[in-house]
Amino acid sequence: MDILNRPIEETLRISPPYLQRLHQVGVFYLRDLFYYLPTRYLDFSKIIPIARLGLNETATVSGNIFDIKNQRTWKKRLIITTAVIQDSSGFLKAIWFNQPFLVRNLKKGDLVNLAGTLSLSNKEFVFSNPAYEKLTGINTRNTGRLVPIYRETKGLTSRWLRFLIRKALDKYAELIEETLPENLVRKEKLPPLKKSLEQIHFPDSSSLLARAQERLSFEELFFLQLFLLRKKFGQQQPSPVIKFDQPLIKKFVDSLPFKLTSAQKKAAWEILKDISQKKSMNRLLEGDVGSGKTVVAAIALLQTAHNGFQGVLMAPTDILAQQHFSELQKLFKGQKINLALLSAKKTCQNNEGCPKKKLLEKISEGKTSIVVGTHALIQKNVRFKNLALAVVDEQHRFGVKQRAALQKEISRAKDGLARTIPHLLSMTATPIPRTLALTIYGDLDISLLDEMPKNRKPIKTFIVPPEKRTPSYDFIRSQVKEGRQIFVICPRVDRGDSLENDPAYFPTNETSGSIDKRKLIWQNVKTATEEHQKLHRIFPKFKVSLLHGRMKALEKEKIMTAYRQNKINILVSTSVIEAGIDIPNASIIVIEDAERFGLAQLHQFRGRVGRGEHQSYCFLFGKSDQPENLKRLEALKASRNGFELAEKDLAWRGPGEFIGEHQSGLPDVSMASLTNLSLIKKTKQAALNILTRDSELESLPGIKAKIKSLEEKIHRE
Ligand code: ADP
Ligand code: MG
Repeated sequence: MDILNRPIEETLRISPPYLQRLHQVGVFYLRDLFYYLPTRYLDFSKIIPIARLGLNETATVSGNIFDIKNQRTWKKRLIITTAVIQDSSGFLKAIWFNQPFLVRNLKKGDLVNLAGTLSLSNKEFVFSNPAYEKLTGINTRNTGRLVPIYRETKGLTSRWLRFLIRKALDKYAELIEETLPENLVRKEKLPPLKKSLEQIHFPDSSSLLARAQERLSFEELFFLQLFLLRKKFGQQQPSPVIKFDQPLIKKFVDSLPFKLTSAQKKAAWEILKDISQKKSMNRLLEGDVGSGKTVVAAIALLQTAHNGFQGVLMAPTDILAQQHFSELQKLFKGQKINLALLSAKKTCQNNEGCPKKKLLEKISEGKTSIVVGTHALIQKNVRFKNLALAVVDEQHRFGVKQRAALQKEISRAKDGLARTIPHLLSMTATPIPRTLALTIYGDLDISLLDEMPKNRKPIKTFIVPPEKRTPSYDFIRSQVKEGRQIFVICPRVDRGDSLENDPAYFPTNETSGSIDKRKLIWQNVKTATEEHQKLHRIFPKFKVSLLHGRMKALEKEKIMTAYRQNKINILVSTSVIEAGIDIPNASIIVIEDAERFGLAQLHQFRGRVGRGEHQSYCFLFGKSDQPENLKRLEALKASRNGFELAEKDLAWRGPGEFIGEHQSGLPDVSMASLTNLSLIKKTKQAALNILTRDSELESLPGIKAKIKSLEEKIHRE
C-alpha cells in the first residue's frame, strides 16, 4: 500500500487532542500531512556572528546560553523571560513574553539558535520574541533557514507542525512513491516527488523551493486536467436525441422582433448540433450582460419541446426565474408550448396560477413541456416524464465541485427516460479568463457571445469624487423627470448583517489583515437600508424603494413588478441586482463603495443599464483616493470588454474572485498556478498524451491513487 494512504495515527505518535485538531483541518492521512503546504516562509537563513548583527536586521545567531531567568513585571501580571547568549564574537540579550516554560527547555550552557529581528529597547539591543531551537545535531526546523509558516488554528501552531512534518519526512520520505509517469518527470526536468515535498516544507534555498513549488503545481494541474478530460471523453450515460427541425427554427427566428447577431446564430447552431446527438451535451454559453443569451436558450428549449421532450430553465433567484418566465412567454407567443413556472414561492402554468401539487402532477405526466424555475426544479419531489435539456443560468460562481453536484442532482431529477441524463447548458455573464477555461472549466465545451446586439449605446462611466455628489444627484433628478429610472447599489443590507454571511464581495487583498481590521472597514461600508432612507430625504418627490436578498420573496416580487412598471423611480439594492435583471428604462446605476466589488461584478452591475434605447450612465462612488482602488475603477471606466476586465481581475486579485477559494474543487493546488498559462498548457498536453496511451495510466499505482483522492475530494460534501 502506498505509504501516503496510511492514517497519520498509525504512522506517527500523536496525542488525541492534537489528532483531533489535525482532523479539523482535514489532515487524516500521511498524504494530507505532506500536502499541508506552507502558506509562506520566514527567511532566517542568514546565520551571522552576534557582533555583526545590525539594527533591524533579520537573521539567526548561534551560541551558548550564558544566562536565562523569568521575571514578573510589577505593573501587570506579565512574565518576562530574559536570556543572554554568547558566541565567539559577543553577547546578545533575548526576551520573551509570557512563555515561562522556556526556562525548562533552554538551560544554561545549551547550544542554541535564535532567529529574529534585532531591535532597540530602552537603549539596549535585543532580540524580542525570537524563534529558538536547541542544536542537537539534526537538521534545524525553526531557525537558520527558510522557515515554513502554516495555516494555524487554535492549538495548532506552525512550530508544532514543523516538528511533526519534519519527523514524518525523516521517517517516511524515502518511501514516497513517484506519482507522475517517469518519462514525464524526465521530459519536464521535474524534481522527484519526495525531494519536492522535503523542499517545500524545509527548503535549502529559495531556488530549490521554487522548483519544488513548480513541480507540485505541475502535479496538481496535471491531475486536474486528467480528471476533467476523463470526464469529458469518458464513457458517460447518453442523453435523448433532440432532432434538429430547420423549418421550425427558421420560422421562430424570423418571428423575433430583432435580427440575431452572428454570435447568437453560431452559438444556437453549436447547441442544436450537440443536442441532436446521444452523447450528452455539457456546454457553457458565455456572453457579456445583454449579449442575448436568453433567446439562444429559448431556441434550444423550443427544439426540445417540439421533439416531445421536456426542458427546464433554472435561475438562481425567484426574481430571475419570473423574469425568464415572462420573457419566454413573450418569445413563444405564437407557439403551442406548455410553459410553467416553479419556484419556491410561486407556481403557474401559462397565464394562470396553478397550485404546486397540481403542477407537479402535470410535470410528471409530461403535460408541461418547458418549466422555468429556481433550485426548486431539482428537488426530490419533482419528477419529470422525459426531461431532455436542462439550462442553468448564471452559475458562474460555481467550481468543479459544485458542478459535479449539480449534474448529479439534475440527472437524479428524471423520469420515464430510463438510463439517460439531460443535456446540460450553463449560461454565464462572467467572462472566464482563458486559464480558468482551460482548467476548472476544462470539461465543458464553450460557446461565446462575443458580439453585442447592434442597437446598444455604450454606457458612460464616471468615477465620482465626494465633492461631485450633489451635482450627480441633480443629474439623477433631471433623468427621473424625463421618465428614466435609477439603480443604487450598496455592498451591505444593513448594520446587523454579519461579516461572514454577507454575500457582497470582500476584496481578497484584505484577507491577510486581522479580522478586527476587516470588520472595522466593513462597518464603514454603506448599507442599502440607510442609503434608502437618505435618498428618500434627498428626493422627497420621487418614489424611492428598497430591495435586498433578505426580504420575503413575495415582497421582492411586488417591488420588482412596480419597478418594471415604472412606479418606482429609484431602487436601492444590494448585489441581488447583479444577475440578469432586465429593465430597459433604467438609465443610471449608482454604485456606492465601488471598490468593495470585483471588476467582473462591477461590470455586471453596469450591464443593468443601457439595455434600452436611452443613453445610460454608471456612477462609481467610493474611496477612489487609494491608488490600488483607483487603478481598478479606471480599468472599468476604460473598458467595455468583459473578457479584458476578467483577465485583469485574475491578475490583480487572483482566482478567488471567480471561483471562491473553497469552491474551486482544487484542494491542494496553489491557486496562483491557475494564472500560469504556459504551465496549464503543458499539463493539459501531458494529460492528453496519457489518455491516448491508456495502458500507461493503469500501470501506475500513484496515478490511480491520486485520481481517486481527487475524485473523493471533489465529491465529498
Ligand atoms: P443576457 O445575455 O444578459 O441574458 P438577455 O438575453 O436578457 O441578455 O437579452 C437582453 C435584451 O436584449 C433582451 O431584452 C433581449 O430581448 C434583447 N436581445 C437579444 N438578442 C437581441 C438581438 N440580436 N438584437 C436586439 N436585441 C436583442
Ligand atoms: Mg440573462
